Amino acid sequence: MICVSACLAGEKCRYDGRSRRIGRIADLVKEGNAVAVCPEREGGLSIPRAPSEQKDGRVINKEGKDVTEAFEKGASVCLDRALAAGCKTAILKENSPSCGVHAVYDGTFSGKSIPGEGIFTRKCREAGIICRSESEEIEDERSL
Ligand code: SF4
Repeated sequence: MICVSACLAGEKCRYDGRSRRIGRIADLVKEGNAVAVCPEREGGLSIPRAPSEQKDGRVINKEGKDVTEAFEKGASVCLDRALAAGCKTAILKENSPSCGVHAVYDGTFSGKSIPGEGIFTRKCREAGIICRSESEEIEDERSL
């Protein structure tokens, strides 16, 4: 079983109320081979919501509110769900403050990303789940 970011599976759970659907990832869920989770939604944040970015070890939304607690809570709920489903790997949305695998936005809301990992990704890795980004997944698909 694979854990995937729900927005990649087609769920409209992003801050802007949209998805980032990737057909192959949506198919994994449809076929019962993946479980889709959205840590920000599970943390009680609304859809749509103000975008958030990591800054100095916290998560701050564009209105200046510290939303770290909601991010941590949602990530824990999603990790429990992934572990209960037996997930050993995850495909997560790069650059997200929750789901980023190799990079996150830099906290300036300017679209610039820096090396880092999302709150959920960190928890997954600490639990032994191997995390890959959607772009790595697409690259592998292309090279087959
Ligand atoms: Fe997608 Fe993760 Fe953001 Fe939810 S928290 S919208 S799953 S990137």
